[in-house]
Amino acid sequence: MAKEIIEEAKKTVKKAAVAAAEAVVEKAAEAVAEVKEALEEAKAEPKAKSQEPKVQVITPEMAKIPAGPLELKWTNYKNHQKLVNPANKRRLDVIVVGTGLAGASAAASLAEMGFNVLNFCIQDSPRRAHSIAAQGGINAAKNYQNDGDSIYRLYYDTIKGGDYRAREANVYRLAEVSNSIIDQCVAQGVPFAREYGGLLDNRSFGGAQVSRTFYAKGQTGQQLLLGAYSALSRQIGKGKVKMYTRYEMLDIVMIADENGEKRARGIIARNLVTGRIERFFAHAVVVGSGGYGNTFFLSTNAMASNGSAAMQMYRHGALFANPCYAQIHPTCIPKHGDFQSKLTLMSESLRNDGRIWVPKKLEDAKRLQAGEIKGRDIPEEDRDYYLERRYPAFGNLVPRDVASRAAKERCDKGYGVNNTGLAVFLDFSDAIQRLGKDVVAQKYGNLFQMYEKIVDEDPYENPMMIFPAIHYTMGGIWVDYELQTTVKGLFCIGEANFSDHGANRLGASALMQGLADGYFVLPYTIQNYLSDQIGVPRMSTDLPEFAAAEKAVQDKIDKLMAIQGKRSVDSIHKELGLIMWDFVGMGRTAEGLKEGIKKIDAIKKEFWTNVYIPGTADHLNNELEKALRLADFIEIGRLMAVDALHREESCGGHFREEYQTPEGEALRQDDKFSYVGCWKYMGEDQEPQLVKEPLDYEFTERKTRNYKS
Ligand SMILES: Cc1cc2nc3c(=O)[nH]c(=O)nc-3n(C[C@H](O)[C@H](O)[C@H](O)COP(=O)(O)OP(=O)(O)OC[C@H]3O[C@@H](n4cnc5c(N)ncnc54)[C@H](O)[C@@H]3O)c2cc1C
Repeated sequence: MAKEIIEEAKKTVKKAAVAAAEAVVEKAAEAVAEVKEALEEAKAEPKAKSQEPKVQVITPEMAKIPAGPLELKWTNYKNHQKLVNPANKRRLDVIVVGTGLAGASAAASLAEMGFNVLNFCIQDSPRRAHSIAAQGGINAAKNYQNDGDSIYRLYYDTIKGGDYRAREANVYRLAEVSNSIIDQCVAQGVPFAREYGGLLDNRSFGGAQVSRTFYAKGQTGQQLLLGAYSALSRQIGKGKVKMYTRYEMLDIVMIADENGEKRARGIIARNLVTGRIERFFAHAVVVGSGGYGNTFFLSTNAMASNGSAAMQMYRHGALFANPCYAQIHPTCIPKHGDFQSKLTLMSESLRNDGRIWVPKKLEDAKRLQAGEIKGRDIPEEDRDYYLERRYPAFGNLVPRDVASRAAKERCDKGYGVNNTGLAVFLDFSDAIQRLGKDVVAQKYGNLFQMYEKIVDEDPYENPMMIFPAIHYTMGGIWVDYELQTTVKGLFCIGEANFSDHGANRLGASALMQGLADGYFVLPYTIQNYLSDQIGVPRMSTDLPEFAAAEKAVQDKIDKLMAIQGKRSVDSIHKELGLIMWDFVGMGRTAEGLKEGIKKIDAIKKEFWTNVYIPGTADHLNNELEKALRLADFIEIGRLMAVDALHREESCGGHFREEYQTPEGEALRQDDKFSYVGCWKYMGEDQEPQLVKEPLDYEFTERKTRNYKS
């Protein structure tokens, strides 16, 4: 018995020893695993990277690019898109924000088709949209000059001009519909310039070796807008368009459908005269609100041009594409003082006959700067026609980005003219000798007159002075092939979208794109969306979504009005503009952009704590309007800087000084940056998230741009 007890005790001790040993081994294993994990964490970087949010990618299917050969994509699309029958069109409402060339042409076309249109603009007449300022002309591939033009050539020049950063399918469609635009406008009575034989005349613009620019003296935008306006007025008269002038959209109303997907179903707008905030419903919202160049304060844009509509779309989930692509135009009247609030463009058409030069000798430049001599006093042999010298094939008609950088290079080296040294000459003496003063006056008379009024110097006698200035924004709201944003039912057209111009727009192509979008693209593509909405009844603007959107707008206005600080809106905007020009302007560096972002953040703080808005919000208040727009310009400025910082290459208007050839030309990095850089809103004061749409060039060989030979 005692023996059995001893055996049992031995077994128990053995079991306990094994269990204890196992526990020790287990603990040791855990410890080893922990150490391993710690070691891996210590090696860290790869793990940290994997925790970064994944960059999302937009595929061609998501961008709705039709399959098939380039030249058949648009035809195929039109042959297969869904249509809305006439009876159903009458039951559908569309809001169009904007009455520039894009908005007016879209509103008139949609109404003509039978939809009910509500059209909004800030100005007191649709005719006062910024498009009216366009001077030089509109491109089309008519080949009236028999100089070798074709749809393909217009496509190719646009793709190349944009430094291979545009979507092939869109650009081809743009070139394809360009000829219809001219026919449409002629039918409306737009008085394009004609040759003696009666054919429409053409002139040349930058980035092309053919003459394909149709024009109406130096007032092309005005005449085209009058054409679109007459089409619009006809529809207003017929009751198909309800026009809301002096109304500013302040937000978009989103309502979820039966699947929980949010769709644009209306807008909140402020009546700028009474200050009243009002609600509007529609089955779809189209925004043609123009570009955001005024972020820079001084620009060639109209004073009311703004980026707020774009920011409203962005905050609701529409992607903001390529915000850093801004165009600096080489032929603007130089800035002349600190109290200036506007810059004036001298049309690119002037480069057809005007020759650009600076003195060859530094001492001549100094005497010009000191006002001791005039441009005409410098003999021919002492003039440096630097564009003709550097780019013999295109000469004075190189694209805008190239011409602007070349001017800056000369001025930076000390050869600039004007009392500031920040200008170059645009000289017509050759043309006057060759063609006679009368012919030059016929072609450009109003531009010469405008120059004389502003500068107080006769450009027939002494060369004009010009300098680069912010003019156009290629970046904008991302849209698919149908011009729909990433938000269902929300479309974006004209300069406001990220458009077809890649990293640099060619002259006379903005009017073409705005009218292509409004007259010939959107009227087709929007039906593909609206055909699924025919069963959706008109919604009451009493819905909670409308009430909430209106309240948010009211709260923002109240917050601004309550600040009552010490600084005027313009003084803060001017400061932002200087930061943009210095750090996010013609030449950008990583260091400068980082510094710029810090400064913009500081401006934002200053604005929200120290802006002063006089008066009240319940009637006309220009300062309040400007403050609301400035709040968004500050956000756009930051987004531009963030985008410019991430794009470590130079392309088109985006020039990162770290990426240039030994001759100072832009150096693309196709292997890394051949994509549309889109930014997704992640919340107030949160960093935006990058989304990429790869640009796989299927039909065109990407080359280094060459305007020399
Ligand atoms: C001086 C100058 C000359 C130019 N010359 C040429 C040229 O010769 N050829 C060429 O191709 N391009 C030219 N351009 C570029 C071209 O004029 C523009 O890109 C084009 O006109 C933009 O048209 P849009 O319809 O997109 O916008 P815009 O004409 O800017 O119209 C925007 C509309 O949106 C409205 N809007 C904006 N925000 C709101 C809001 N929140 N609520 C309600 N309404 C709103 C405005 O009231 C306006 O009606 C020139 C530009 C400038 C600055």
